[in-house]
Amino acid sequence: MKIAVLPGDGIGPEIVAQAVKVLEALRADGAKIEMESAPIGGAGYDAAGDPLPDATLKLARAADAVLLGAVGGVQYDTLERPLRPERGLLRIRKELNLFANLRPALLYPELAGASSLKPEVVAGLDLMIVRELTGDVYFGQPRGIEVRNGERVGFNTMLYSESEVRRVAHVAFDIAMKRGKRLCSVEKSNVLECSELWKEVMIEVAKDYPAVELSHMYVDNAAMQIIRAPKQFDTMVTGNIFGDILSDAASMLSGSIGMLPSASLDEHNKGMYEPIHGSAPDIAGKDMANPLATILSVAMMYRYTFADLATADRIENAVKKVIAEGYRTGDIWTEGTQKVSCSTMGDAVVKAL
Ligand code: NAD
Repeated sequence: MKIAVLPGDGIGPEIVAQAVKVLEALRADGAKIEMESAPIGGAGYDAAGDPLPDATLKLARAADAVLLGAVGGVQYDTLERPLRPERGLLRIRKELNLFANLRPALLYPELAGASSLKPEVVAGLDLMIVRELTGDVYFGQPRGIEVRNGERVGFNTMLYSESEVRRVAHVAFDIAMKRGKRLCSVEKSNVLECSELWKEVMIEVAKDYPAVELSHMYVDNAAMQIIRAPKQFDTMVTGNIFGDILSDAASMLSGSIGMLPSASLDEHNKGMYEPIHGSAPDIAGKDMANPLATILSVAMMYRYTFADLATADRIENAVKKVIAEGYRTGDIWTEGTQKVSCSTMGDAVVKAL
């Protein structure tokens, strides 16, 4: 298996280094994996004047899976839009046709106190959000800022084709089948035609999955329910912009965005795996970041691309063990636990593995 390793910016290189330690430990144990690194985001711009250099894209295309840290930094915020780090990320997702983004929100019992919600609301939470990633208002044309009637107007287009909705629906139903067999489709069909089509296609696809109970919810209500009673959900499927916002809200249920991995898959289960958080410039270079989201992203890589569930479980169990042993980076630290650095946390996971 070839893994393209793209550390990116800010804390990206620090957290990816810990995930690479885990991969190296697995390799020492006999796993047949090759790793090669390349720059992306601001690092891509610095190296080749492009947030997604050609060589990086070529490496990612040739790989079976991509491990990404994070991109972005204030020094790049004044660049022209196409040169900004985030554009590199949007482009690689589009180029690799990674249309299904899987974002679990899971609460480790020991971390219930780190959530901003009451423990009884979040304890035992196990939610999977499937977000469509390559369509919607983020990519729809036309888009732009122009002068109309003497003033500037900004505009974007919310757009989904039937086939785009159908393929993400299949991914979501397949995942729901392996979980609690309940799928909630989130949209805004009371107001948006785009959502009306989304809902119709979901209902059509549901006929192929009679064992899954499909429900529908407007996104405004979903935002409220995710905070009010998040355990009512098993698997959720939604479009790109709604998923962007809801999955960040859901991430806070579990205490820290430093704990949450993600996978973005194409039609053949090739995937890009990355923590959900950004490049955290405020703590970059200080060996303080939580590497567990990135390490858990490697577990997802084993589960979804390599279809090696035993190794996926092994990595997740190693993370559970270090949490149970009381190791905490600053973002999840509470009184009575042991505050450790990013690299110490990585070493502890390798030891637990
Ligand atoms: P962020 O996720 O980088 O940080 C938000 C807060 O969470 C910060 O206080 C940060 O210190 C903390 N945090 C994030 N990851 C952490 C970790 N692993 N361990 C401990 N604490 C952690 O979001 P932001 O501040 O809005 O954005 C910073 C930069 O990251 C921007 O340039 C933004 O565009 C970029 N960004 C990139 C991605 C990505 O690469 N996928 C996602 C979101 C934001």
